[in-house]
Amino acid sequence: MKVYLDGQLVEAADAKISVFDHGLLYGDGIFEGIRIYDGNVFRLEEHLERFEYSAKALLLKMPWSRAEISQAICDTCRANGLNDGYIRLVVTRGKGDLGLSPALCPAPSIFIIADKIALYPPEHYVKGLAIVTVPTRRMNPAALSPAIKSLNYLNNIMAKIEAQQCGALEAIMLNDQGMVAECTGDNVFIVHKGKLYTPSSQQGALKGIIRDAIFDIAKTLNVPIEEHDLTRYDIWNADECFLTGTGAEVIPVVKLDGRQVGSGTPGPIFQQVLEVFREVVRKDGTKF
Ligand code: PMP
Repeated sequence: MKVYLDGQLVEAADAKISVFDHGLLYGDGIFEGIRIYDGNVFRLEEHLERFEYSAKALLLKMPWSRAEISQAICDTCRANGLNDGYIRLVVTRGKGDLGLSPALCPAPSIFIIADKIALYPPEHYVKGLAIVTVPTRRMNPAALSPAIKSLNYLNNIMAKIEAQQCGALEAIMLNDQGMVAECTGDNVFIVHKGKLYTPSSQQGALKGIIRDAIFDIAKTLNVPIEEHDLTRYDIWNADECFLTGTGAEVIPVVKLDGRQVGSGTPGPIFQQVLEVFREVVRKDGTKF
C-alpha cells in the first residue's frame, strides 16, 4: 500500500511521522474521512471545504491549495488501484518541541491513506442496529466546536468503549444539556409522522457530509426534513431512526437502550432514503 506523506507516495511501512509531531503529542491536527465509490471520490469539494474550515478554526495555516490537496488525494487513490474504498486525509500541526505552543512547529505535515473500510457487519444494514445511550457527553461547543473535525476524539472514544461494554456497536451521545447530539462517529436522524429530524451542530452534531446528502435526498423524495432539538423521548417515540456517516453510510437503528424503536425493523422512509443514497453516491463524485 502506498501512503502520501508530505509530497511523496511512500510504502506504508515507510510512512512515519516524528514523535515530536504535535498531532501525536497533543491531538493538534485535523482530518477527513472520504469515500470512493466506483472510481469517484464522493463529494470531495464538500470534504475539502469542511477541512479548510477546521484548519481555520484551529488557526492551522495550510501551505497547500485545495487543488493541490485534491490532486494528492486522486494520486493516492490511483497509486493504490482502488475503485471503492475510504480515504483518510490528515494534517497535523507538525514537528515541534515538548511545549504546547504551535509557534514552535514550523511546518504542518500532511498524509493521505487510501484503504478499504467496513464499519458495521453487513447484517446490521438489513436487520438494524441496537444502540445505547452512554454517559460520556459530546464536547461542549464553548470548549471546542463540534464542527471541527480535529484529532481530539477522546470523548467519542470513551463513548465507543462504553457502548462496547454494553454489547452495542454504536452509542447515542448527549450534549451537556442532555439533548441528543449524535453518535460516536455518525449523525442521527429520526422519522416522526412522515418528517425527518436531526440535531443541529449547536446541539453537538458534526456537520456530516452524508447528513448533508440526506437533506438533498429528502428533497428528492419530497419528505420534509429539518434540524430539530431531540431528546431520548423523541427517539423512543420515533417511527424510524437511522444513522449516517462516510464509513457507516446509512444504517437503521431498531433499538435504543433495550427499547424497541418504531416497528423494530428498518422502516419505509429509511428504505427509500437508502435506495436514493445508492444512486447518489455513484453520481456525485470526482473522477480520479
Ligand atoms: N459525527 C462524528 C463525530 C464523526 O466522526 C463523523 C464522521 N465519521 C460523522 C458524524 C459523520 O460525518 P460524515 O458524514 O461527514 O462522515
